[in-house]
Amino acid sequence: MGFGVHGAVKILAVTSTGELKRQPLRLETEIKYLKGVGPRVAEMLAAKGIQKVEDLLYYLPFRYEDRANPKTIGELRAGEMASVIGEVRGSALLRTKSIPIFEMTVGSGRASLKCMWFRGTYLKDRFKAGQTVALFGKVEANHMTGKLTIMNPQFEILAKPDDLEATEASNKDPLGSSLEMGRIVPIYETAGSQKLTSNWFRKTVHFALTNLERPVAEPLPKSLRERLLLLDRAEAFERAHFPPAETSMLQLLGRNTPAHMRLIFEEFFFLEIGLELKRQRMRARRGISFALTGQVREAIKRFLPFRPTNAQKKVLGEIAKDMQAATPMRRLLQGDVGSGKTLVALEAATIAIENGYQVALMAPTEILATQHYLSARRMLEPLGYRIVLLTGSLEQDRKREIRRHISQGSAQLVIGTHALIEDKVEFDKIGLVIVDEQHRFGVMQRFRLMKKDTDAEPDTLVMTATPIPRTLALTLYGDLDASTLDELPPGRTTITTRRVTEERAQEVWAFVRKQVEAGHQAYIVYPVIEASKGDQSELGLGMEGGKAEKAPLKAAVKMYDELRRGVFKGLRVGLLHGRLPADEKEIVMARFQRGEIQVLVSTTVIEVGVDVANANVMVIEHCERFGLSQLHQLRGRIGRGTAKSYCVLVTGGKATEEGDRRLEAMVRTQNGFEIAELDLELRGPGEFFGTRQAGAPELRVANILRDRKVLELAKQEAERFVAGDAAVSAEERKAVMEHLKTHWQRRYGLVEVG
Ligand code: ADP
Ligand code: MG
Repeated sequence: MGFGVHGAVKILAVTSTGELKRQPLRLETEIKYLKGVGPRVAEMLAAKGIQKVEDLLYYLPFRYEDRANPKTIGELRAGEMASVIGEVRGSALLRTKSIPIFEMTVGSGRASLKCMWFRGTYLKDRFKAGQTVALFGKVEANHMTGKLTIMNPQFEILAKPDDLEATEASNKDPLGSSLEMGRIVPIYETAGSQKLTSNWFRKTVHFALTNLERPVAEPLPKSLRERLLLLDRAEAFERAHFPPAETSMLQLLGRNTPAHMRLIFEEFFFLEIGLELKRQRMRARRGISFALTGQVREAIKRFLPFRPTNAQKKVLGEIAKDMQAATPMRRLLQGDVGSGKTLVALEAATIAIENGYQVALMAPTEILATQHYLSARRMLEPLGYRIVLLTGSLEQDRKREIRRHISQGSAQLVIGTHALIEDKVEFDKIGLVIVDEQHRFGVMQRFRLMKKDTDAEPDTLVMTATPIPRTLALTLYGDLDASTLDELPPGRTTITTRRVTEERAQEVWAFVRKQVEAGHQAYIVYPVIEASKGDQSELGLGMEGGKAEKAPLKAAVKMYDELRRGVFKGLRVGLLHGRLPADEKEIVMARFQRGEIQVLVSTTVIEVGVDVANANVMVIEHCERFGLSQLHQLRGRIGRGTAKSYCVLVTGGKATEEGDRRLEAMVRTQNGFEIAELDLELRGPGEFFGTRQAGAPELRVANILRDRKVLELAKQEAERFVAGDAAVSAEERKAVMEHLKTHWQRRYGLVEVG
């Protein structure tokens, strides 16, 4: 390799006072001091999370091209993904009826290849005949002529050999070879609206690696590296960015070269140490030992409206055991939509209240909070508890009054939205905090709520209907114990799900009408409240789906009017969306609950928690715009009663390939775990966990799905380390902790909790 210029290489740096100073290039050097990076570029890099030289080194190539042994054009086969180098023979911008196409012929020797870019006007003056270009894309054979073609290839114009002398020295490695040819070439995601090209990153990363002060700090203990055969950090950076010639392309593709494995392991290792320490701290805290007396059991028995399922019994057992213990409970309750989490939550609440404590139940939306409030009152009021609802849209006076009940302890069960974690809410004696639909809340917020206590830590129960694949739950939410409701209450019928195109709308409406006339109720769901106002999308509250395409969208308000006057004339139709005033929402929900509204036109506000057993039909328009988990959540609103239920997915436009897979999955299965797995696969962990909202850390090189095995290993090793691994020296331990503090804090922002 051409790296490892030892000794402190000085670079020019400007201090905050404006004077010039020479400093060695280190991992912690601010990126703006790196050669070729000024304030403007630094800003573009910051948008990618790159602030220090170290961040740049973690910005790994997203793909590699083998330009050491590139295929010749003659060797290409239709159907393969290929990277190929050739010479530009000619190009032209063709204007067809519909879209401009840029065409280019690239050749080597007698073989040639055609490249086509749709909407390629921007390429018009990019290429000159005789240039050498590297291309990457899927090779196809024209079905008429058999000629090989690549559609929309990625490309790079390569410097001609005699230009090489002229290019910056940094573009060559000291061995004399080019960074962009004759080797395995790293391809980076561009940044700064493509101003920072892949080649820019290549050069800049190479410069940084070449000039980095050695030795580079190594945060992983030596014994650990030796036992697991991990590369040291500096070498891992070098090889991940500029793989040596003998590196397997297959391993590069799978990100499991030794270099990648080392960096992935490192990231998981620190993540898991952080979680393990948090867990330890939690275990050390003093909680409340609730007593499970005969009186408590009696109270639970009195309010139970039905016989709990075996799953509910088992899970309540787990919760009750935690609540009796002197350490604070931290439990995650997973259960598919309709599995009966609310019942379990109210049972747990009863334990706390009968012990003289208050309970807070926090929900992500007003609708859901209201829903919980109504069912809690229905079930628990016979026990004589005061149950209050606190949401942001209440009148100030009313809020004040409720807050007074909370602080004086005269309200035993407090149900609410984010309003609950507002600073002015003070509990008299909080014993249990229940957070519903945890994906909508930041981890941080959970902790803020928990800190409301005075002396002992309240117990926490987090409920989610988006099941997280088990291994991931354990490793990521490893600071929580998990319980799973793996059984639905009896008497549920399966839901028939169909997918139709918009042209068949009339048939769909006729079907809905028939069901309603037979005494049932229906939901009609739209992705937006009003058309053409992009900001009114309620898709997942910014979490999923809804990459705003500009196709005309049918919107709830307008369709409500249309349906009410048209096909549903004579039926009682209602409208529900997030912009309605809270009391109006409440009224609509209550009327739907009572069956006074037969057809409810709505947005995704009904996604979580709404519970009307008599509703057996759901029509989702523009279904291709919804995320998979979201569709599953929506569908969970039906199939709650004894009548056969139907979900009709109406596509209003062409679904993408990914959209197709989502809809196909919806038709195929009703299993929440299966759907969650697929959703995770389709969207990637970042979006799946809604990263910031869920509090799951944003990983730089690791991918919790692809690298599950490494994650498991890292977890084991982290536990071993925290327990006090004898093979690790005191100095190394200090280095690990120091690294955790500086990096974990900065990257994941979780460690200060507790
Ligand atoms: P989740 O919150 O898990 O989606 P809910 O708690 O809203 O599910 O329960 C779904 C429906 O099932 C509700 O109508 C509830 O009353 C009903 N239910 C819950 N537990 C049982 C049970 N053990 N037997 C019969 N019905 C139940
Ligand atoms: Mg629920």
